[in-house]
Amino acid sequence: MIELTHLTKRFGDNVVLNDICTTFPEQETTVILGPSGSGKSTLLRSLNLLEHPEEGQYQIDDLQVNFAEPISSQTTFAVRQKTEMVFQGFNLFPHMTVLKNLIEGPVHVLKKPKADAMAEASTLLKHVGLADKADAYPSQLSGGQAQRVAIARSLAMHPHYILLDEPTSALDPELELEVLKVLLTIHEQQQSMVIVTHNMSFAKRVANKILFIENGDVQYDGSAAGFFASENPRIKRFIDSMS
Ligand code: ATP
Ligand code: MG
Repeated sequence: MIELTHLTKRFGDNVVLNDICTTFPEQETTVILGPSGSGKSTLLRSLNLLEHPEEGQYQIDDLQVNFAEPISSQTTFAVRQKTEMVFQGFNLFPHMTVLKNLIEGPVHVLKKPKADAMAEASTLLKHVGLADKADAYPSQLSGGQAQRVAIARSLAMHPHYILLDEPTSALDPELELEVLKVLLTIHEQQQSMVIVTHNMSFAKRVANKILFIENGDVQYDGSAAGFFASENPRIKRFIDSMS
């Protein structure tokens, strides 16, 4: 379970996250929605300690981070083992094959025997529909394939939470669908996830919980069903503008 209490992040005078208190339940998918510039990426990045809010507490499982105090490299390492951020496929190692990309972390960080890591990598590649691309290099993949490799690579690290920031925004609609299908499967397997997306139909299908933020304030924090059925004019206007 992830819990944030009184999280505040400023860039200069700009309060980007304003006293956020929320939870990200385990084995569920939480979708963060909100207009451009509302603080979604900053919030997601905070969960991976890529951003350091000035105030607030962050608890993940038994780990506690107080943002008002310096954060040790051990804590950062421990938090990042529990939360894997999927970047837009662009951070695959270009000089390594797809299979190598997948075993790098498990072998070097998790100290897994190479044979075990290779066996799991093959299973994961099948899972994302890319069994035939094990020996390909990232430059030989389509955007959607690269993104699916990035997702498989994050799964190989067995993080508690997978964090995705607009996982399909760089993709054509057809390729987008491939990636969304994979995420839907992972969701059905109850992998804990936090996803920032502008794709409302996907949010509707995948989200257990919605966190709707505007100007750094939480405007809605609750069930996806409640959000999409909301009579709140602000929420209705947002859903209409995105559909
Ligand atoms: P989008 O939907 O466009 O991706 P977002 O909701 O993800 O938007 P953020 O990227 O979290 O928004 O940005 C929130 C606010 O913080 C914006 O006003 C942005 O200009 C500001 N901001 C983000 N990163 C920085 C930074 N490194 N330095 C200064 N301001 C920043
Ligand atoms: Mg963003």
